[in-house]
Order: sequence, then C-alpha cells, then structure tokens
Amino acid sequence: MTLSSKTKFIFITGGVVSSLGKGLASASLASILQGRGFKVRLKKLDPYLNVDPGTMSPYQHGEVYVTDDGTEADLDLGHYERFSGVATTQYDSITSGKIYQRVINKERRGDYLGATIQVIPHVTNAIKEFIFSDLTDEDFVQCEIGGTVGDIEGQPYLEAIRQIAYELGKDRVMFIHLTLLPYIPTAGELKTKPTQHSVKKLQEYGIQPDMLLCRSQMPIDQNEKRKLALFCNVKEENVVTALDVGNIYEVPLAYEKEGIDRCVCTHFGIECQKHHSDLSKWQKIVDIVRNPKENVKIAVVGKYAGFLEAYKSLSEAIKHAAIANFAKADILWINSEKLETGSVDDVLKDVDAIIVPGGFGQRGTEGKIMAIKYAREHNIPFLGICLGMQLAVIETLRNVAGISNAGTTEFDKNCTPVVGLLTEWQNGSVIEKRGENTDLGGTMRLGAYPCVLQKGSKVAEIYGCSEISERHRHRYEINLSFEKDLNQSGMLVSGKSPDGRLPEIVERPDHPWFIAVQFHPELKSKPFAPHPLFTSLLQTAIERKKNLI
Ligand code: GLN
Repeated sequence: MTLSSKTKFIFITGGVVSSLGKGLASASLASILQGRGFKVRLKKLDPYLNVDPGTMSPYQHGEVYVTDDGTEADLDLGHYERFSGVATTQYDSITSGKIYQRVINKERRGDYLGATIQVIPHVTNAIKEFIFSDLTDEDFVQCEIGGTVGDIEGQPYLEAIRQIAYELGKDRVMFIHLTLLPYIPTAGELKTKPTQHSVKKLQEYGIQPDMLLCRSQMPIDQNEKRKLALFCNVKEENVVTALDVGNIYEVPLAYEKEGIDRCVCTHFGIECQKHHSDLSKWQKIVDIVRNPKENVKIAVVGKYAGFLEAYKSLSEAIKHAAIANFAKADILWINSEKLETGSVDDVLKDVDAIIVPGGFGQRGTEGKIMAIKYAREHNIPFLGICLGMQLAVIETLRNVAGISNAGTTEFDKNCTPVVGLLTEWQNGSVIEKRGENTDLGGTMRLGAYPCVLQKGSKVAEIYGCSEISERHRHRYEINLSFEKDLNQSGMLVSGKSPDGRLPEIVERPDHPWFIAVQFHPELKSKPFAPHPLFTSLLQTAIERKKNLI
C-alpha cells in the first residue's frame, strides 16, 4: 500500500435513525470540496452480510447500481457518481459479506499461517485494506459507513476507522456524524437528546466526532447548537444544520451556506485559497428546477411502481433530461399489473412519453407489453430498457410479425424463444460462459460493454458518434436469428456488440421516437451531463405535446 501523504480521510457515520440520506450528504460534501478545487474519492461500506446487493430485492434495498467494471453496488454509488462526476469501481463499495468472504478465502488458502482468525485484527484489517485500496493522489477520501451507530454488525467498521485515526493521526482523519433533531410539535422544540445518546455510543467505540451534521426540518438556533456542542464534545462552529430542502440539487448549496467546507478545511488546517466553493453549476440547475418553462408527463410502467428507490437512477436520469430541456418532468409510476386488468387507454392517453424499465421475473410483463403496443400504435415516444427492450421485441414479433407464441425463456420454457439465456459472450479478451444452473449472484453480463451504432440510424444521430460504451446487467438476450422478422416488422437492430453477435439497440424508423436498449443508460446520466437518449426522448415528448395543443 502506497498512500499519498496528502490524502486525508473523512468518515461519515449515521445516528438516531436510518434513511437520513448519508449518501446524499457525502456526495454533496464531495461536490462542495470539488468546487474548491480538491480531488475527492467516495467509498461506501455496508455492514450487511450479503456479498453484494445484486441478489437483494429492490423492495428491501432499492436499486442495484452497476459500475463500469461490473460491480453490483449500493445505490449510494449512484449519488456519488451523479454529484461528483467521478466514476466508481469495485474499490468503492464493499459489504461485510465480501469482507468475510475474503478473510475466509485467505484462511482456507493457509495465508494466515495457522493463526486464530478474529474480527480484530483480521476482519478490521480487511476493512482497512479496502479503504486504502486503489488510491492515487486524492486530497480527500470520504467513506460512508452504512447503517446506524449501535448496530451490532457495524462494530468492526467503527473499530477499523478508529484504528485509522490512531495510525494516521487526527490531522489526516475527520469524523462526521449525521444525525436527526426531531421536532416535537406539542413541545414546540427540536430535541437534541437522541443525538447526545448516539454520540455517546460512538464515544464508547473510541470515536469522537469532529462535526455533527444535524438533519432538521427547521433552522437550529444557537442555544441548541451550543448545548449539542457541550454535551457531545464538538466545537460549536462544527455543529452544522442540514436543513430539509425541496429538491436534492439544493443540498450542496444549502450545506455550503452552512459552512460545511470551511469546517472541513479548518479541521485539517488547510488554508483555503478560495473564499467560497464555486457552486455556480448547481445554482444554474436549481434555478431551472424552480422555474421550468414546460411540463412533461412521463409514464414509467414497471413492477416496483410503489417503491421508487428501486428506480433511483431512472428517475434521476429523467429529471436530468428535463433540466436539459428547461422542463419539469411529472413522472407517472404505473404498476404494469394494473394494465392487465383495466383499460390501457384510460391510463396512458394523456402521457407524453412511456418508459418500460429493466426488471426480472414474469409478474406484470404482459401489462408492460400492452404499454409498448400502445406506444407503438399511438406514436407516443417510447424508451425500453433491458427487460423493456426484450419485451419491445416480443411485442413486435407477436403483434406485427404474427409469431403469437414469441416470448423469453426467462419465464416461459415453451415459447418461441425470441429472447433466450445468454450462455457465451466476449468480455474483452475473455469468453464468459454461463449455464441454466449457475449461481444467481454475480453471474450476469455486468458492467460496461462497447456497442457499435448503425450508420444513419436514429441512435447514431442522438449519440453523435459510431461507438458507445454502456453498462449492462442481464442474463438474457435477444435471439438475432429473428432479425429478419424484426426488419420485416419495421424494427431495426441499430446497435450491436463489435463482433456483431449481440443485439444492443432496436428502433422503429416508422415511429417518432421508439428506441429500446439492452443496457442501462440511466446509470451514466448526471445533472451536468444528462444522457443523450433521455434528453432526446424528452425533447421529442415536449415537441409532440406542443403540436397537439
Ligand atoms: N430479466 C432480464 C435479463 O436478465 C432483464 C434484466 C434487466 O432488465 N436488468 O436478461
């Protein structure tokens, strides 16, 4: 391990309750520090025992985020990328499952030379190794510890970061504790007691927070800050309000106003050349979000309609595209199962665009196919993503080509398999192979793959280039032996893997905007670099809406 002597570590823990938005807080701090010219890296450590979130239900843990190198990661990595613009990798997301797997693998290989394997030092050392891995010349490495202080499974992480502070010294380590000051209406007061208890718990583990970032629905007055400072042993100026804000893009501006970056610089004794962080790009975004020129209604037809964390990157990508079009997107989350029993027209007649996102399993797929048919027949701009692309192909082959039994082997073994299990593909110089009985975890086609765009196609025009790289997460693939049937039914395979064997994009030249992709474009969209597919979809939706009025 060669650690640059200038690299400083900021550890972010959470107290009182979960879901306080540590990921967003961490991502916002990173963007503020970047606005001062610092190089920042963000990492997430999750204490749960799953090896990665890949096999976790989106209902439990929200979307599975995928990095370029094919890591299935916590959705907070999406916040990190979107706010900092720094692409995340396998070195930025870890779980206890993976840590223990590494330790146990080493033990099986005999690497510990007969030692008794213990949480301290073996597990804590593996955690430290992860924190220090793959660093170059970062000014700051921000590490977010998942869960809430006091959780049994989080203890090895707290011990590991305590040790890092001991080893590197306090001038290279800062502890930020994100906490909640609940407002009790009957008392008319913000309560500091839960925070005091949470800090006491941290102190039991040998960690003294340097800053309290206090989530609150109203400004925290100086008396309360003084009380928290005194009881929690934190400098008064380092008790910082994290006020609830209207939209997430306001968070960096709100934190900067509270002086969070000044606290960080002062803690590390860094002379700030710039008086302020340059957050003008955030200000521009917030201005558009507050004063949109258009409204556009986008239907997302999916399985997890009631649980929006499952579509985090997608809803963000739609918002980014709306901002790029100076518009506000009203996203209509439609449970596809409902379409199967009701009138599709009633639900979809007023929408400006339809998106069918990725998904796994059969439930609700017939409803998604009905939505795709509706988009195709009514010239409504349509984007299909992953399963959405597979179903778009099935829809065309069933309803236009007349292959009534067209389906996917993912949930119908007796169908005409126009979508089938991907058993062999090229990943760089490696041939990846899978079978029916391989494990579910970590065995998909994952991460960034190149795709060649057909000259003169709509996607080539939208991307403005001939080869792209996008991130994948799937096991099944469209069977190219049906390409001729697709062409005869008005569907063009306009993007393929460089060897021409895997279809990546289909489009309908007879439609104002009908594109479906095997990859997940939403994962790479950022507020400052909205994804071209989403921007173009919304632009067409807005234009179409105006012509209709
Ligand atoms: N279930 C499909 C597959 O595995 C699609 C996956 C997805 O939409 N991410 O191929």
